[in-house]
Parts: sequence; C-alpha cells; structure tokens
Amino acid sequence: MPKVIIVGAGLSGLMTAYKLRHSNFELEILEARDRIGGRIYTKKKNSVSLELGATWFGPQHTKLLNLVNELNVPYKIQENGREALYDFRPNGHLERFKLPNQQAPTFKFKHGTVSLLKALEENLNTSVQLNQVIKSVQLGNRIKVQTQSGKIIEGDFLILSIPPQLVFDSIQFEPELPLDLRELVKNTHTWMSDSIKFSCAFDHDFWKNERYQGTLMSPQQIIQEMYDHSDGDTHQKGLVGFLNSKFSNLTQEERRAKVSEYLKTLFGSQASAFSYADVDWRQENYTIDQQAKSLVPHQNNGHAKLRAPLFEGRLFFSASETAAQTPGYMDGAVHRGAEVADQLLDFLS
Ligand SMILES: Cc1cc2nc3c(=O)[nH]c(=O)nc-3n(C[C@H](O)[C@H](O)[C@H](O)COP(=O)(O)OP(=O)(O)OC[C@H]3O[C@@H](n4cnc5c(N)ncnc54)[C@H](O)[C@@H]3O)c2cc1C
Repeated sequence: MPKVIIVGAGLSGLMTAYKLRHSNFELEILEARDRIGGRIYTKKKNSVSLELGATWFGPQHTKLLNLVNELNVPYKIQENGREALYDFRPNGHLERFKLPNQQAPTFKFKHGTVSLLKALEENLNTSVQLNQVIKSVQLGNRIKVQTQSGKIIEGDFLILSIPPQLVFDSIQFEPELPLDLRELVKNTHTWMSDSIKFSCAFDHDFWKNERYQGTLMSPQQIIQEMYDHSDGDTHQKGLVGFLNSKFSNLTQEERRAKVSEYLKTLFGSQASAFSYADVDWRQENYTIDQQAKSLVPHQNNGHAKLRAPLFEGRLFFSASETAAQTPGYMDGAVHRGAEVADQLLDFLS
C-alpha cells in the first residue's frame, strides 16, 4: 500500500486526509503544534470559547459550505447590527454610522471554528501525530522526512500543508528544489500572519441595544476592528476582533489591560471583568518565520506554479495560499486539500 505523509494538520492537511480516508493509501499526519488547526484556533478558557483565528465565511465559499453541510457542522449568520461605532480619536470624534444593508450574509460557526476541524478529525481513519516538527526532507526512491527529535518517517508521497512562505525557512531539502520555485515560495504571503486577533467573553452583552451589536472601527486605538461574538445557544457573550499591530511589543497581559481600559471608555465600567486571550500571529513559529520578510497581502497567492506537482508527482504544496480559488481563506484550504487528494487518487487509478 503506497504511503502518503501529510505535514501539517490545518484545514488543508485534514481535508486531504478526509478525502483519502477510504482509499488504498496508508496515511501519516505529522503536526508541529500540540493541537490541530493551525490558523484555526478556538481556545477554551474559564469554560468559554475564545476565537483567535479564522472565523467568518460567506455564500461565495462554496467548497467550504459543501464540506460544512456534508459534515453537519452548525453555523449561523454574523449579526453586525444597524449601526457601527467609528472612533476617529485622537484626530477626530467618536461617531455612530448607519451600516448599509448586508447584500450577502456572513456566517460563523455556532460552536467555534474548531467544530469544523473536530468533525473532520472524527472522520479520519488515522490519528494526527502532534508535536512532530519536520526539519528536513530527503527526496529519493522513498521520501524521508526527519523530525526535530531525529525520528525518520518514510513514505512514497509527501504533502506539505504548511504556509508556503514557511517551507524553506524551516525545512531543509535534499536535493534542493529549483531556485525559481524557492524564490516564488518565499515571496508568497501568508494570509493574516500580520494580525493580532483578540477575543473576550462577558457575563452579559451590555454593549447591545436595538440598533447596535458591537461593531467598531477605530484606526488609531488599540482595537482596530470589533464584532459581536455572543453565542445564542449558551450563556456566552463575547466580542472579537483585531488589535493595532503597533501594540505587538506589549505582553498579552499589557494588551488585555489596554483593551479593558479602551472598552471602558466606550461602554463604561461594566466592560472591565472578562475572560481575554489574543494571538499575535506574527510571533507564531509554525505560521511564519520571525525573519520572514514582510509581503503585500495575498502576494503570489494562488500562483499556478505553487500547484505544480514536484518530484515526478510525489511532492505537493497544499496550504490555502496555493489554491486556485479563494487562496488564503478557509475555502481555499478545503479546495486545495481536496484537489491534492484527487490528484493522488488519479495516480492509483
Ligand atoms: C487571525 C486570523 C484570522 C483569519 N480569519 C479568517 C476568516 O475569517 N475567514 C477565512 O476564510 N480565513 C481566515 N483566516 C485564514 C485561515 O485561517 C486559513 O486560510 C486556513 O486556516 C489555512 O489552513 P491551512 O491548513 O492551509 O494552513 P495552516 O492553518 O497554517 O496549517 C498549517 C499547519 O502546519 C503546521 N506546521 C507548520 N510547520 C510545520 C512543520 N515544520 N512540521 C509539522 N507541521 C508544521 C502548523 O502548525 C499548522 O497546523 C484567518 C487567519 C488568521 C491567522
């Protein structure tokens, strides 16, 4: 039975494994972190779920929606209210604006984005091996990958489901891959790797009224963008959004204090006690290398050369950024993860 090694248990890697679950391939899935999901990260803290990675999708994300419906993962519409707060301080005022009627709905998962990953994982025929950081790849009659701890795993096919920009910063290849490909890959932006996402939970949704749901835009403040993240099915009331990247030099505790202080200026003292977490994705080892150069958002995302099978059709890049459709997004990860699986299945037929 030919063996496929999948490096990375994010959405794209898990999608490939899911599509191959009934095939005649032996699968081994190796994940660097101590959790599955990669850029999908729903953190449980004090019995609440804090969404710290991918959250929203829409009707245009057809591959993702097909999968969500196939696996029966519950989702709902993101309610943004009829008004938003725009905070132009210190160069302007705090103002309320009427939001245009939404042309198309935006969706989010009812029980956190992790619910999609859990549904995928439950349907695999093999378990993900966590804490397996791949450091080198040897391309020969058999493909050998070596982990940080020195373990060698051999297979016939290798799928690298890790953000392209990270590949050559973190993995040594023997023989080396072509220079033009390495240049392209190093210059392929990893979507959202420059963001700080925060999430917080409260006992009640004091920010809400008939017109306002929590939507905020504030270019100069610690919170730059914010949305309601309450869960209608549980008692959890929450807010989620993005922090200004100029606060990345602070500790998480310092950012929490500043977020709390800022929310109090908007909503009063009731905004103080909450469960809080954030992730500065620029500092996340298995998403981007600390020395990686800054790129333009979506630079080279979806480039056709990223999808060309390598090493006589035995090596593939498959993270979302390589997808022909919606690269960088969850939909792209599903699209590309499935496409690579189909290419492997063609090989068997
Ligand atoms: C803050 C944030 C918000 C986002 N918001 C949205 C959104 O609202 N909607 C949307 O559609 N998309 C959003 N995205 C993008 C979305 O998260 C990604 O498109 C999707 O999760 C990518 O999945 P992937 O499997 O391709 O890559 P990843 O999720 O990056 O998975 C790669 C996996 O490989 C592992 N790995 C890396 N290096 C190694 C190694 N050397 N050895 C072993 N394993 C390794 C990683 O740990 C990781 O688990 C967001 C991303 C972030 C960070």
